[in-house]
Amino acid sequence: MKFRTLAIHAGQQPDPSTGALNTPVYLTSTFSYGTAAEGQARFAGQNPGYIYSRMGNPTSSALEQKLAAMEGADEAVVVASGMAAISSIVYALTQQGDEVAFIDPVYGGTDAFLRNTLVRAGIKVTSYSSDDDFVANHSANTRLVLWEPITNPTLKVIDSRKIVAVARDIGAITVCDNTFLTPYLFRPLELGVDVVMHSGTKYLCGHGDIIAGVVAGNGPLIQRIRTIALKHIGAPMGPQEAYLLQRGVKTLPLRMDAHLIAAQKVAEFLAAHPKVEKVFFPGLPEHPGHQVIKDTAGGFGGMVALELAGGFAAAATLLDNLTLFAQAVSLGDLESLACHPASTTHAAMTAADRAKAGVTDKLVRLSIGVEDADDLIADLSQALDLL
Ligand SMILES: *Cc1c(COP(=O)(O)O)cnc(C)c1O
Repeated sequence: MKFRTLAIHAGQQPDPSTGALNTPVYLTSTFSYGTAAEGQARFAGQNPGYIYSRMGNPTSSALEQKLAAMEGADEAVVVASGMAAISSIVYALTQQGDEVAFIDPVYGGTDAFLRNTLVRAGIKVTSYSSDDDFVANHSANTRLVLWEPITNPTLKVIDSRKIVAVARDIGAITVCDNTFLTPYLFRPLELGVDVVMHSGTKYLCGHGDIIAGVVAGNGPLIQRIRTIALKHIGAPMGPQEAYLLQRGVKTLPLRMDAHLIAAQKVAEFLAAHPKVEKVFFPGLPEHPGHQVIKDTAGGFGGMVALELAGGFAAAATLLDNLTLFAQAVSLGDLESLACHPASTTHAAMTAADRAKAGVTDKLVRLSIGVEDADDLIADLSQALDLL
């Protein structure tokens, strides 16, 4: 089946007891197994059947089947947040003495987890400045390598094919954070990536009303991650969130098409505007990652960043005068959002690390929603005129 069809139908069966077309929200912590013999069989793994919602619930199981089909994976596990996904993956697949690599930059929470928390488990963490830096300078002892194909907030492109080729040579597990592109535009498993994860909070949900995480991949790796995420860390997705996420995911292709069109138009408008110094958007032909995304993905995503002469003051004037863009972190919602990374999401970094990551005081990040592009452009235009 094609992607749009999978997004609607995969994992969804009419409820056997009532025929309800939509998967019900199973608000229950525990499941009666009826007899002592059945309890014994379920705990021994001999009989299928739910036991306790931390380990599995019918609403989240239906969502897991849908997401696995969309990523082209054997199996998916849904968890409480994107950060629960990252930490469960890394704890499940590494141990004391291992080396973990990541390609800079990664999401701030991921960066802090790897650099500050993971190292306390006796795991060595090394960052590389680009895909080419990893190819040239990787440690042969790397056990796991993690990256985002389009990075935050400067929208640098990482070529997943280069990372996979090196990882195969050295026997490292590859983990791709696919939050920005979604499986509608990019399916890492088809390029040989082992594990794909998402902050489901963003485009997969699309409506900005839940916190959610998703991990997908093949067989034994996902089973190990499931055990750590659900049984040990104890971070399952609740059934209400699972319901809302499956509802959001059904319209992912429709929403992404609208994000793509609006983001391209907004980026082209900004690139031609005399008050804008620089635009970061892989859909512009002059972007250094344009061809990599063209070759490997079905679109350039909905995130756009820009730099203004005049630093924080100019950025604040722009942001404070936008009427359609809410000033907020997060991304991938129906509504357009705008933020100043250096003073918010990246404020905890040292000025030197910010400079290295290209997070300057003049940088503004936009998450382009699904509004009409003409209205978004008119809003940006009137705010830029005030500079
Ligand atoms: C938001 C985000 C995360 C963290 O996800 P949460 O759902 O907020 O825990 C991880 N990676 C990327 C790329 C993100 O944008």
